[in-house]
Amino acid sequence: MAEFDLIALIRDRCAVAREDVRLGIGDDAALMAVPAGQLLAVSTDTLVAGVHFPLATHAYDVGWKALAVNLSDLAAMGATPAWATLALTLPQADSRWAGQFADGFAALAGEFKLALVGGDTTQGPLSITVTVHGFVPADGALLRSGARVGDGVFVTGTPGDAAAGLHCLDHAAADAAELPSAPAGLREALIERLNRPVPRVAQGLALRGHATACIDVSDGLVADLTHICAASGVGAQIDADSLPPSSALLSLFDTATRRAFQLNGGDDYELCFTASDERASTLLGDLARTGCGATRIGRIVAGRGDAPVQVRVTDSTGTELTIARAGWEHFS
Ligand code: ADP
Ligand code: MG
Repeated sequence: MAEFDLIALIRDRCAVAREDVRLGIGDDAALMAVPAGQLLAVSTDTLVAGVHFPLATHAYDVGWKALAVNLSDLAAMGATPAWATLALTLPQADSRWAGQFADGFAALAGEFKLALVGGDTTQGPLSITVTVHGFVPADGALLRSGARVGDGVFVTGTPGDAAAGLHCLDHAAADAAELPSAPAGLREALIERLNRPVPRVAQGLALRGHATACIDVSDGLVADLTHICAASGVGAQIDADSLPPSSALLSLFDTATRRAFQLNGGDDYELCFTASDERASTLLGDLARTGCGATRIGRIVAGRGDAPVQVRVTDSTGTELTIARAGWEHFS
């Protein structure tokens, strides 16, 4: 299959009509109209095979995840998704793989009425770069820098599931031998959270105008909350026992393992945000109505000068826990 056939295949499978796309795939650049009074929010993320997803990941899941991780960044800004571009590097022009990849991408694009307006297709080791564009009212974006001492710290959903899913994939053979009676479907549920993260777009919109700071959890809850602390010039204290576990996480892992996944595991794409006590109860009600609620896990405290660790983690008795590894970092 030739490059242009591949592009046509992807274009056809990802067709989403939008009035604001004046010129889509096919020319040297796409042309779009940004609504008056709105700012354009732009974000890019790359997925490298074997680094950001296991080599054996199904093409559909790769397509889904490549878009999901990008939509998650728009969600964390409180932006409404509109358009995307896709730079695809493939070892071979495999139409079957590309078709399944496009179906996964299109499933999520369709859900958010997001138009694929362009991209690039090249040959090389499998790597996918998506750039997403969305809108946010001027002054309406959720930033990392707005957390204030006294705010509550919250997280949507059940963090830790994706890291547990990766553990399940890595230990599939050993677990099958050791735990033949583990309830069916629990591992699959966790693996699904790894392969098909659901970007919290509706939740990001609900937070707009209420949350003081927000970030999406891609590298690990503690690591990403540390970014909020650094940008806001504050510290945070969280109670590990207040982190809500999914029923699969609770049934399959002991407390220590669960905590490690919940505090340090990446790839969840939940939102971690801060809000004042006055706003919190309305906000939690609004979030629950979106179908994905949030939980209060701690509070923002004064920063500790140049101390390297700005996020303190305790258990419910107040005993401080040491965090072995603060989250995923490339080149470390
Ligand atoms: P150029 O040589 O001008 O960069 P290309 O031949 O790379 O153009 O691409 C032709 C058209 O197809 C452009 O509109 C480009 O945006 C689009 N395109 C190429 N690859 C992809 C892709 N993977 N996904 C979506 N659009 C693509
Ligand atoms: Mg090109």
